[in-house]
Amino acid sequence: MKAEIICVGTEILMGNIVNTNAAYISRGLAGLGVSCYYQSVVGDNDGRLAEVFNEAAKRADIVILSGGLGPTEDDLTKETVAKAMGRQLIEDEKAWKQIKKFFEKRDIKYTDNNRKQALVPEGARVLYNKNGTAPGIIVEGEEVTAILLPGPPGELIPMWDDQVVPYIKEKSDVVFVSEMVKLCGVGESLVETELKDLIDAQSNPTIATYAKVGEVDIRVTASGTDEKAAHKLVKPVVKEIKKRFGSYIFTTDENVTLEAAVMQLLDENKLTLATAESLTGGMLTSRLINVPGASEVIKTGFVTYSNKSKRKYLGVKRSTLEKHGAVSEQCAKEMVKGCQTATKADAAISLTGIAGPDGGTDEKPVGLTYIGVSVLGKIKVKKFVFSGEREKIRESATATALTMLRHSLLENLTERTFSEQ
Ligand code: ATP
Ligand code: MG
Repeated sequence: MKAEIICVGTEILMGNIVNTNAAYISRGLAGLGVSCYYQSVVGDNDGRLAEVFNEAAKRADIVILSGGLGPTEDDLTKETVAKAMGRQLIEDEKAWKQIKKFFEKRDIKYTDNNRKQALVPEGARVLYNKNGTAPGIIVEGEEVTAILLPGPPGELIPMWDDQVVPYIKEKSDVVFVSEMVKLCGVGESLVETELKDLIDAQSNPTIATYAKVGEVDIRVTASGTDEKAAHKLVKPVVKEIKKRFGSYIFTTDENVTLEAAVMQLLDENKLTLATAESLTGGMLTSRLINVPGASEVIKTGFVTYSNKSKRKYLGVKRSTLEKHGAVSEQCAKEMVKGCQTATKADAAISLTGIAGPDGGTDEKPVGLTYIGVSVLGKIKVKKFVFSGEREKIRESATATALTMLRHSLLENLTERTFSEQ
């Protein structure tokens, strides 16, 4: 099955918003095993939209459109697609009821324009919108099926997940199953080298690697006549990947983030954590606090950006700062030690570095970072030189700190924890 994506909106064309919907839908299609050879962006113009739609309809079985379903004049996706497919627009009673309810609940007056949103092409399947007013629409034509989705990602994503994915699965005669293996502390090129023989031999299942900051994800996808058959093909490959990467794997659950895996490790072992951040300025603590239940684990987070605060809150010695500077192994060590002492947390982590763009020297270049980890009194400090812009350096340092903490925890915890990994 072939699909195409058309995102409608002059603001996307002008670069005012990033086309995240196309990325989300594409990823979804890949996961469903639906080929997507073209994506287009077109402004709020009926002539050009009709042109793009007709072109796509010739090439694909499904054309997915995002945006332009709103109540205003420039929202014309529905009208244009209905015309191109030779359908009249009629009011959907349930959609109109839901739109009215949506406004009443928020104590907002609706206008005649909003009634326009309850119009759907004759014979269409309506995707009711729990998060906004515009319903989504599926129009099955003889040659092509059009799927129209609202532009706001907060509406499009749940509609895609809950209603479009099951629809496409139902239409498709093959089932795709995929599993994810997520690694930290290892680079993408090494992962690809280690997997080369498996990747070269791949057809079904396929193996794809995705590099993120401080993390590499491997997705194994197989197709089969039913879920069981596809799963049977995925399983041995995932097993082999697990064998090759061992403790670099922090999860095989697609929805688990690196910070969630670290928090789980701390939580399972009833360990508390405190942080002392300089160059990352709270980024690490923020990632950790994103994980629900963080209050059980995170005691305190210090953002000690100045030398004075490093001394005052963490007890870093004046002589250390004078002799070695704030970006030094000694300072990271005193920071993590001071953080642990001040908070009495079981584990602590410190970061100090040069995020740039200024402040680098030959001896201490931009990107130079020291990360200190203390787990149950055992301290380890490591030096890194991260590359990229300021933001990228801070993100890399944050991800690396999580990886380092995870490795230290695994090293210092009992046999039991190891076998559970
Ligand atoms: P509305 O009822 O809000 O007008 P709509 O279906 O008409 O919804 P648009 O008017 O095209 O959608 O877009 C509304 C908002 O949705 C945009 O301002 C933008 O914030 C977001 N949006 C639209 N298209 C995309 C896209 N392709 N990627 C990410 N965000 C998008
Ligand atoms: Mg709109």
